[in-house]
Amino acid sequence: MSDALRFTKGRVPLLISMPHPGTRLTPAVERGLVAAGHALPDTDWHIPQLYGMATELGASCLEATYSRYVVDLNRPADDVPLYSGATTGLFTEVLFDGSPLFQKGKAPGAEARQQALSEIWQPYHHALVQELKRLRETFGYALLWDAHSICSRVPRLFEGQLPDLNFGTFEGASCDPELAGRLKAVAADQQGLTYVFNGRFKGGYITRQYGVPGEHVHAVQLELAQRTYMDEAPPFSYRKDLAAPTQAVLRRLLETTLAWGRERYGR
Ligand SMILES: [Zn+2]
Repeated sequence: MSDALRFTKGRVPLLISMPHPGTRLTPAVERGLVAAGHALPDTDWHIPQLYGMATELGASCLEATYSRYVVDLNRPADDVPLYSGATTGLFTEVLFDGSPLFQKGKAPGAEARQQALSEIWQPYHHALVQELKRLRETFGYALLWDAHSICSRVPRLFEGQLPDLNFGTFEGASCDPELAGRLKAVAADQQGLTYVFNGRFKGGYITRQYGVPGEHVHAVQLELAQRTYMDEAPPFSYRKDLAAPTQAVLRRLLETTLAWGRERYGR
């Protein structure tokens, strides 16, 4: 298997995709980064640890090991922009705050980019496609949860403080509306975390590309505010005290997703 990913095969029709927790760098990227870039501030920190309960629930897990500074797995290979306004692309040259990611003239060249596409982007998407196919063949349907997190304040990307739970269903196109309704009910039935559906984050490339309800693949993206489980300033420590109640909500969301699938498809 490619060293660009870690994959755990589960026993239920749910795949958790984690495209942004990786911290590995290629030599070309590492040589070129500015000092601020080496701290990898735009990482989806600790997401595999936070979602540890998904393995207990029997979900399959796919986790990227390389940083989004090498190649962004939640962008299309042709790099067509997903969001109007400020965003970052397939090969970002800026940090989320808009400052340069690379020293002058040190951004990786075309050859290094092509290599990242074929050795990091392609294997991740190949594994994703294969697992969704296996789940559909085994269960008749597949549930895809694209797991992300972001600092709750990034002035260049959004105004003020982000809600805690940012669900993206590509405006309802990536999953059955009934599943979205069940998730909304879970979010409404707890006090600790604020939430929004299809707000600033509507679902990135993975959600849009693979969520095809008509073909019985239902995808949901959850962009979680990092203040719900970690320190948002370096060294970006995991906070068990904050994470525990957040994990309880995540667990309910995943259990609800699985229960909806069993009801809808009878297995
Ligand atoms: Zn992310």
